[in-house]
Amino acid sequence: MKIAVCVSHVPDTAAKINISGDGKGIDPSGVTYVVNPYDEFAIEEALKTKEKFGGETIAISLGPEANKETLRKALAMGIDNAVLLKDESYRDSLSVAKALASEIKLHNAELVFFGKQSVDYDNSVVGQLTAELLGYNCISVAVDFKLDGSKVICEREIEGGKEVIKTSLPAVITAQKGLNEPRYASLKGIMTAKKKVIEEKTVDAANNYIEIVSFKRPAPKQAGKIIGTDASAVPELVRLLREEAKVI
Ligand SMILES: Cc1cc2nc3c(=O)[nH]c(=O)nc-3n(C[C@H](O)[C@H](O)[C@H](O)COP(=O)(O)OP(=O)(O)OC[C@H]3O[C@@H](n4cnc5c(N)ncnc54)[C@H](O)[C@@H]3O)c2cc1C
Repeated sequence: MKIAVCVSHVPDTAAKINISGDGKGIDPSGVTYVVNPYDEFAIEEALKTKEKFGGETIAISLGPEANKETLRKALAMGIDNAVLLKDESYRDSLSVAKALASEIKLHNAELVFFGKQSVDYDNSVVGQLTAELLGYNCISVAVDFKLDGSKVICEREIEGGKEVIKTSLPAVITAQKGLNEPRYASLKGIMTAKKKVIEEKTVDAANNYIEIVSFKRPAPKQAGKIIGTDASAVPELVRLLREEAKVI
């Protein structure tokens, strides 16, 4: 079985992000990029599935040359092959999904793992859109995954409990935290990954339906107010919480 995993290369959530001069992007200077955290769960599940049932795994990323770092990490964790769909331009989620779906089709992958969300644009739709474009079944936000022949059984967390759902291959699964514990790349894996060739491909130009108008920073936080330093401040504190902050 061919198993694909789609991985995005995202700014580290701890990085300080500056908005670019035109206000429509970010200034990449000094920003550290990492594998999208949810995609690490997707990679791990692809590896576990291959270890159990055999087959071949492939990681696919759409973006600039720098995305090779993320693909290298996937290879170091144990993914067999990697493809970079090289593109520098902004793409909306549908345009990302179209490019990924075309590549997945070429590899005839029956099972495709995604993260539930890319922690930059946070749209949480690329997996589902790709499934629709491929005509595959889709289970999103999975915290457990089992394969039994061509039957797929997943668990999802819902308010107050878990939902157990099933579908059949071919399928797209989007990974939620808790699905597994992603492995660390071994030294051998890192060395092997360095030697592997990442296939580079060009993609059709983006045909976006959604355009970024601007990025805005949140309003600066107001300075804190000291009401008092002993119990006599409590009535005023309660009044402010009730009348100004309206939280009680
Ligand atoms: C500030 C900022 C900086 C960015 N910088 C880069 C960059 O340097 N390099 C870059 O390639 N992209 C960059 N992007 C784009 C980004 O990584 C994703 O392609 C894009 O965020 C998809 O967003 P989404 O919210 O629609 O994805 P979601 O729908 O939230 O993603 C769900 C899942 O789809 C898959 N997925 C999403 N995007 C891709 C992708 N491009 N390739 C493979 N699988 C994917 C992943 O499995 C992900 O977990 C940047 C975006 C922002 C906002």
